[in-house]
Amino acid sequence: MFAVTCEFHFCYGHRLLNYDGKCAHLHGHNGLVEITLEKESLDEKGMVLDFSELKQVVNAWIDKNIDHKMVLDENDPLASMLAELNEPMYLMKRPPTAENFARLFFEYVKESGYPVSRVVFHETEKCSATYSCDTKNCTSCE
Ligand SMILES: [Zn+2]
Repeated sequence: MFAVTCEFHFCYGHRLLNYDGKCAHLHGHNGLVEITLEKESLDEKGMVLDFSELKQVVNAWIDKNIDHKMVLDENDPLASMLAELNEPMYLMKRPPTAENFARLFFEYVKESGYPVSRVVFHETEKCSATYSCDTKNCTSCE
């Protein structure tokens, strides 16, 4: 099996509802996401995928949706207030935790047609969350 990984850096804000800790209040992080694609064979260029293609696709999505935006749970009561003030936001169907960011990236890359196998989302330098699936045995993301 061959695998390639690209890293992406960006800034975002969030807060966690029903949470007792620093992340309960509005604040920001310098996010880093590592996206790994896996294939059993290489293309005619000898690659899993040209890094530049993955960078282009993912960076465009990050710039449009996440970078320098407030990422909130769609049920967060702040969402309507920020919308009225025209503040840039991205609303998630799940709490905006590192785990759910990893899943969000995984699903976006998969829906874009790439053979993603693993996404590691670093919320801080020392803490990260991973979302992965073994495509052969996966039933949840079919
Ligand atoms: Zn946080």
